[in-house]
This record gives sequence, C-alpha cells and structure tokens, in this order.
Amino acid sequence: MQEQLKQLEKEAVAKVEGAQSLKEVNDVRVAYLGKKGPITEVLRGMGKLSAEERPKMGALANEVRETIAAAIAEKNARLEEEEVKRKLKEQTIDVTLPGSPVKTGSKHPLTIVIEDIEDLFISMGYSVEEGPEVETDYYNFEALNLPKDHPARDMQDSFYITEDTLMRTQTSPVQTRTMEKHKGKGPVKIICPGKVYRRDNDDATHSHQFMQIEGLCVDHNISMSDLKGTLETVAKKMFGEEREIRLRPSFFPFTEPSVEVDVSCFKCGGKGCSVCKQTGWIEILGAGMVHPNVLEMAGFDSKQYQGFAFGMGVERIAMLKYGIDDIRHFYTNDVRFLSQFKQA
Ligand SMILES: [Zn+2]
Repeated sequence: MQEQLKQLEKEAVAKVEGAQSLKEVNDVRVAYLGKKGPITEVLRGMGKLSAEERPKMGALANEVRETIAAAIAEKNARLEEEEVKRKLKEQTIDVTLPGSPVKTGSKHPLTIVIEDIEDLFISMGYSVEEGPEVETDYYNFEALNLPKDHPARDMQDSFYITEDTLMRTQTSPVQTRTMEKHKGKGPVKIICPGKVYRRDNDDATHSHQFMQIEGLCVDHNISMSDLKGTLETVAKKMFGEEREIRLRPSFFPFTEPSVEVDVSCFKCGGKGCSVCKQTGWIEILGAGMVHPNVLEMAGFDSKQYQGFAFGMGVERIAMLKYGIDDIRHFYTNDVRFLSQFKQA
C-alpha cells in the first residue's frame, strides 16, 4: 500500500511537470486528488490493515496529497508568470510609431471675417449687438426714414410674413433698437453682424440670404472725418496696411450726406487689374452721417448729437479677401471649399 501511494505521487508529480497549460494542470488535480481518484481508492483498502499501521498509512496519504498539491501550486505559478511574460512581449507598444492624425474642423470664412471686424471694433470701444431676424415694418423701414410710400423700399423687396412683419432686409433695425435703449443719452458705439434677407435672384454675386455688418457711432461732435478715419482703419485691417480709401457721394434714406466707400485695389495696388475692373478701386461699403430724422425717431436730440453709420456685406468682403468667385460656395457646405480656411 505504501508503495502504491508513493507510485501515485511520482506519477502525479510527473504529469504536473509535463503539463503545458493551466487547464492540463487542473485535469491532473481532478484526476489524482478528486474524491474518485486513485488515492481514495487505495485508502479504501485500509480496513485490512492492523490498528497500528492504519494511522501511519493515513499520515502517508496526507503527505502524498500535500506533495501533489504543492507541485500543482508551483506549476500554476510558473505557468501564470510565463503567460504574463508572453503577453508583455506580444503586446509591446512602440512609442516611436507615428500617431494617427486627429481630424479638426475649421471656421467658416464668413465667421473669420466677422470675428476679424468684431475684434477691430471692440478694440476701439464698440460693443457687438444683435437683433431679431423677423422684424416689424417700423424698425426695418419707418424708423430708418423710409416711410411706407418711399421708392427706396423697392431696392430691398423682401419676404413678408404679414403686412407689418418681414424678414429683415438690413441689420439697421438693431441700430434703432439699441438707440431706444439708450433713451436719448450717448455715446452709442455698436456694430451689428447678422443675417438679412432680400427677394433677389440667386446668382454668382447675389443670394436671397446674406450677412451684413453695420456700425453706428452716436455722440457729441461726431463729424465726417471721424467716419473717414474709422473706415480707413477697417480697410487697412481687412486688406492690408498700404490701402487707401475713396469716398463717393451716394444716397441712402437713413444717412445725410451719404457715401460709397472704395478701397484701393489690394491686388494691383491701384494700377488696374481684373479684380478692380481696371479702375484701381474696389467698392466695399456704404456709409454716411446719421439722418437727423433717424436720431429724433430713436429719441436723440439731433441738435445735441450727431452720428455716423456704415454697412457692409460680409460675403463681399470675404470674396474679395480670399478671391472667391461665387457667393453660393459659402452656403453649400462643401468640405473641400471650407477646409481651405484652416487658420494657424
Ligand atoms: Zn486692381
């Protein structure tokens, strides 16, 4: 019996040694140490032994079990360690490999132009104001010196919601709304960027919806020279330090006198090219001294206060600045177009 047990121990330890995986080790454990295993089988024969021999044999059986269990534990530990080493070797991270690039979006060219202009005016003490895109006839036209029968309304034919509400045709209503808030007390220095709507036929340079930025400055002793100095600063900021501006007389119902503002061509420097249609000048915006009627209607005493205002089309500025030939590129969301405006 003693020899049988010793033989089983030898066999089991050898099998544990030869096992290649944790599963194989476990199989050996079940086979030899389990309740139906050969050791239990041998011990069944203990009844035939003398009372003296029985405890000795019991002790030996326990020893054999412990030896096998110890061999199993040791083998398991070794296999686990090998497994960890193998994984570490297989799953090494090569930190010198190039990373996968992160896709980033870019700002819309119109946003870039608006933010450039906002930055400039904020640095000159202006604030940025916004207003509703669905406007009343009063704010969109009447308060801007365009009464119901005024012929200049034709130039801004729009989308009407009711007889008295419409999609705003200009950002100028924001000027009146802001002046009313000031209750006749200056200074008012604002710029208003935003979408405007007109019943235009869409083509390469016209869209039924486009963006404007208007500016308004109302205070004591404001004159045409303040307007000119401000617009020159804008032109230099948007088109380069060497730019000059030229004012031509014009007409707007809400300003008097009114001017069209040209900037010297940034492409040819004034010699004449296709961008400036051989004239050396490019029209960029309209401006003028705020009409006394507009000041009075917004609650300002036109004897005490003067003001200047200007308005420009953001698309036009962006088209000139970036050499874009079709206004519709701004709205079609083509990534090939938009991704060209990534800023450093
Ligand atoms: Zn030119």
